[in-house]
This record gives sequence, C-alpha cells and structure tokens, in this order.
Amino acid sequence: MQTIGVIGAGQMGRGIAQTVAAHGMKVLLADIDLATAQASLDVIDRGLAKLVGRGKMEVAEAESLMGRISAVADYTPMADADLIIEAATEKEPIKQAIFEKAGEILSQGAILASNTSSIPITRMANYSPDPERFIGLHFFNPVPVMGLIEVIPGLATDPQVTERTVAFAEGLGKQVVLSQDEPGFVVNRILLPMINEAVFVLGQSTASIEDIDKGARLGLNHPMGPLQLADFVGLDTCLDIIMVLYNTTGDSKYRPAPLLQKYVEAGWLGRKTGKGFYDYSGEMPVATR
Ligand code: NAD
Repeated sequence: MQTIGVIGAGQMGRGIAQTVAAHGMKVLLADIDLATAQASLDVIDRGLAKLVGRGKMEVAEAESLMGRISAVADYTPMADADLIIEAATEKEPIKQAIFEKAGEILSQGAILASNTSSIPITRMANYSPDPERFIGLHFFNPVPVMGLIEVIPGLATDPQVTERTVAFAEGLGKQVVLSQDEPGFVVNRILLPMINEAVFVLGQSTASIEDIDKGARLGLNHPMGPLQLADFVGLDTCLDIIMVLYNTTGDSKYRPAPLLQKYVEAGWLGRKTGKGFYDYSGEMPVATR
C-alpha cells in the first residue's frame, strides 16, 4: 500500500497518520474542515519536534515524515488511496455520513476501514458501497507506541481483504489480534467494564481516585490505574463505548456509571480537555475528587 486516507484527525487519527507516514507511506488527513486537519498536522509536528529535542529522532527523519502527511479539505484526493481509515468521533451517525461520502470516491479494490472501538462492523459495512471491502482496524492509544492492532472482519468482508489488512497492520510493526465482530471486540470488551466499574467504586465513595488507581497498579500490576487510563482514552469515548456495549447486548451489566455521565456532561473529558478524573493544568496531575 502506498497512499492511505485518514478521516478524523483527533488523538487517534493523528497517531495513525504519524505511524503510517513513519513507515514510508503517503497520508491524506481529513477532519470536519481543512483548518482542523491542518491544526492536527501542527500537533504531530510539535510531537516530532519533542522527539528530536530528546534525541529520539533525527531532524531529517522528522522532516521527511511530515512531508508524507498532507491535510486535505475533502475526500476527493483520497480517490488514489489504497486504504481509507475512518477515525472520527465514536458516534454512528457521524461515521455513517463519512462512509457514504468516502464511498463516492473509493477506488476499485481499495479498502475502507473503521477504527471504531465498539460499533458493529457488519452494520457499518452497509453504509459503504461494497461491504466485502469494509473492515474494522482498531488501533490503540498512543498509536506510535502501542504494539497491538485488532482486525475485525464483518460478516461480508472478503477473506482476501482481511489478509491484506493484517499484512498492512503487521507492516506497521504491530502485532495483530483477529476478532469476530462482537460488541467491544476483544480488548475493550474486557477494559470498558473495568473502567466503568472503577467509576462506580468512585461514585460510591469506596475509595479515592488515587487509591483506586493505586490498587490497580500495585494490586494487579497494571502500568496505570483504570481512572488514569480513562482520562487517556477520553471520558466521552469511554461513555460512547460502554453505551454501545449496553445497547447492543441489552445486558444491564454494561449500564454506564452515573458519575461517568456527569464528568462527560461537565465537559471534563480527560487529557484532551486538560481535566478528567485528574486535572492536568499543573506540573503533576491532581485528582479532581
Ligand atoms: P477525538 O475526539 O480525539 O477525535 C475525533 C475527531 O473526529 C475530531 O478531530 C473531530 O473533529 C473529528 N470528526 C468529528 N466529526 C467528523 C466528521 N464528520 N468528519 C471528519 N472528522 C470528524 O477522538 P479519538 O480518541 O481520536 O477517537 C476517534 C475514534 O477512534 C473513535 O471511533 C474511537 O472510539 C476510536 N478509538 C479511540 C481510542 C482512544 O483511546 N481514544 C482507541 C482506539 C480507538
């Protein structure tokens, strides 16, 4: 694959664009408008400058990587793409509109993939012109650092499309887990109930934010606690995922913790807004409860 389209230039789209470009491919990055995609490009640039500053990347390498990513105003230039990866907000109507629009320019043989954390692939495949060429390609955050990608074929996905997608993911230096198209796939099916339960524990004042996270770090040997991890994922994204698990299974064990809803309603979405279960405005994160 030579040219990859990425639609949605938030924390995931940025990470995907950077990783793909680091592996020599050309990236076309789109968001709701050109200015937003351009601003995202600037964030990638600043991240690379930090790596250069710490001696982890050569200036020339950072420059050539940035030279392979272009912000685009609409999807027309993606007609040349071998693969288009959607990484927009975890709301089905938003994704549906994107797949319908991208479907108009998708070239013959190109693959359309979604980085959704939880929305059924088989259902979304029907928003695209060819469900046989539609697949789930689930990266982990931060994409340049995390070593795993889940690949999720839908019911109609052509096995050759699955093979090409796995080869693409492995070409990025990642390990692949193949998952059936079940709610939450593999990792989020395990992770989100844990995060949600941690918020119930907090909401019932069983322990403080710091102690809940300390419990998971020292008692379970997790590198970070569930509330800190939720801040990394984004609390809106966590709520969206748990709602998909709840709605698609109808199982009350997935009902969202009221306190998670409250944080999202407050606009405290985690690291991306500077405040979630922790406040990131100072030098060290401080618990918000
Ligand atoms: P984010 O909020 O950081 O970014 C979402 C981006 O989508 C924003 O830049 C927004 O402007 C853009 N967007 C919204 N509507 C759009 C439209 N109509 N067209 C184009 N762009 C549009 O969210 P994120 O964390 O990057 O998550 C994006 C996707 O990746 C979601 O499906 C999420 O479930 C999935 N995901 C997230 C994580 C994580 O840890 N955050 C991990 C794996 C997968």
